[in-house]
Amino acid sequence: MNKTSFIVLLVSLTLTSLVSTLFGFAGQTIIGTFWGWFWVSLLLQFIGFVAYNSYLIQKDDIAMQKAEVETLEQLAKFSIQINCAYCNQSNVTPIQLNKRNTFKCESCNQVNGVSMQFMATTITTPIQSVKLPLSGSESIEIKMS
Ligand SMILES: [Zn+2]
Repeated sequence: MNKTSFIVLLVSLTLTSLVSTLFGFAGQTIIGTFWGWFWVSLLLQFIGFVAYNSYLIQKDDIAMQKAEVETLEQLAKFSIQINCAYCNQSNVTPIQLNKRNTFKCESCNQVNGVSMQFMATTITTPIQSVKLPLSGSESIEIKMS
């Protein structure tokens, strides 16, 4: 625990005790004992703090989730160059992977749909040299470029 949070804790504990003491004195003059009022108000303050803290944490979580969704939406946007299906004019249009995309041709004003196709490829790793073990201590080196 660093010095700042220790001071904050100390101050809040002092304030909580002070409020409880005040309630203790005030309650004592009406009904019951000082300690009865002291502990009840201490407990109520504690419950209040916990409730307020969880409310703050929840609020933070919601704000963070919203920011994440916004970031994802930003990331899902691409600009592609695509030819019009009507006049073959090249257009640049933003597309989103998670939505149905259309664009209006700059040349003929026709609305085009965008069909996305994905293709799987094998991944080739470039090999600089492969050493093949031969009989004995000899080895040959195959160079690939
Ligand atoms: Zn067109």
